[in-house]
Amino acid sequence: MAIEEGLRSELSKQGVLTTTLQEIYNWGRRNSVWPMQFGLACCAIEMIATTMARHDLARFGAEVFRPSPRQADLIIVSGTVTKKMAPQVVRLYNQMAEPKYVIAMGACAISGGPFKQGYNVLKGIDRYIPVDVHIPGCPPRPEALIHAFMLLQRKIAGQPLTGANRPRHLDPEGAGEFPVPEFGEHDLVPPANRTGWRPPVVVR
Ligand code: SF4
Repeated sequence: MAIEEGLRSELSKQGVLTTTLQEIYNWGRRNSVWPMQFGLACCAIEMIATTMARHDLARFGAEVFRPSPRQADLIIVSGTVTKKMAPQVVRLYNQMAEPKYVIAMGACAISGGPFKQGYNVLKGIDRYIPVDVHIPGCPPRPEALIHAFMLLQRKIAGQPLTGANRPRHLDPEGAGEFPVPEFGEHDLVPPANRTGWRPPVVVR
């Protein structure tokens, strides 16, 4: 049950702090996101720079980049996703712990970027796994990744624990794993996960 803001403010003036289970739950999760130690191309250099002393992503609770998907709950897809790598990215996502999140970092990860017309490059990782935050740019600077991280924290903070709007990981019907594409004769099979991705409608 939500606490009325006026009452909460009045109580805090008297030294009584109030909260809800949902706020505590989301507060804990949003301040302890564990990213996976994983990068694909030049954007990964910016991601690495974000963790160094100058930008210090550790300030946001994402202190340690985990070397195993089993210990990570955030995958930052940083770089060009070639069709050769796409199955591996999906497999890593499937192996991550729930609740798990995806940041697609850079023009390549969100759309194929400068290699969009290449026969060997995926036109966006959201064709196979659900992306929470997209970061445009080639490459996005560390500040952009920090901004995306803060947006993700805001998203986690607002997630209801119950009801129709609850997130995928709390929905018994919600998928936690997605089909790993295979190498077909001419392209990846399937070319996209049709249950989670719809081609954009182009209005001319
Ligand atoms: S978006 Fe630009 S910087 Fe990032 S991986 Fe692609 S080409 Fe490299």
